[in-house]
Amino acid sequence: MAVLFISDLHLDPARPDVTELFLRFLQDRVPGNQALYILGDLFEAWVGDDDDSPLANRACEALATASAQGPPIYFMTGNRDFLAGSGFARRSGVRLLGEEEVLELAGHRTLLMHGDQLCTDDHDYQRFRAMVRDPEWIERFLAEPLPRRRAVAQSIRETSQQAIRGKASEIMDVNQGAVERTMRRHDVGLLVHGHTHRPGVHDFHLQGRPVTRVVLGDWYHQGSLLTVHDDGHFELSTHAPGEPF
Ligand code: MN
Repeated sequence: MAVLFISDLHLDPARPDVTELFLRFLQDRVPGNQALYILGDLFEAWVGDDDDSPLANRACEALATASAQGPPIYFMTGNRDFLAGSGFARRSGVRLLGEEEVLELAGHRTLLMHGDQLCTDDHDYQRFRAMVRDPEWIERFLAEPLPRRRAVAQSIRETSQQAIRGKASEIMDVNQGAVERTMRRHDVGLLVHGHTHRPGVHDFHLQGRPVTRVVLGDWYHQGSLLTVHDDGHFELSTHAPGEPF
């Protein structure tokens, strides 16, 4: 029995092979495990729980089947799909998590986050984040018809891609001070997050004790998976489309 973690699939009609890989993952790799955690940015864009696009329908149906037949599937939103809420949970069978979730994982008190909150050096992004997380902004946005919401999401993506091109790459990584403050606040020895698309395992010391930050990779070209086994040992693996999971 193991606990599985994924994030940053950015499911998009433009990357059908990644959608196929995810569906195969749900079917072949998830059953028999203790739980699956999806730590945000499952979708490249999520414009509301009434999204009836073929991709949204397919992903929700596959999640519903996997969670009905297999282990529980937990989901926290990322910066791309932060509008996924209770309607999405009903469609997909996933259990919604908050922005910062602490759980006991193979004897380690562990914090789960998407990770964008930790990128505090990216001031433009944090300003944008505060704007779109404002309940009034969300209410206004969700009141727009679906086609209009899709157009707005598309234009936000284009603006963000342009902004990213002009930014130094360190700015878009997590801030170590923010990581340490957040881990201390939750009193955890392990942090698992995604968002930065820089998969890796970072060991360091916090108030004299060894702690670890594990970063999940994105699914642009291959699948990225963290498997945590009962005995506490874990592996971060990659999976090519077209190969068995
Ligand atoms: Mn993200």
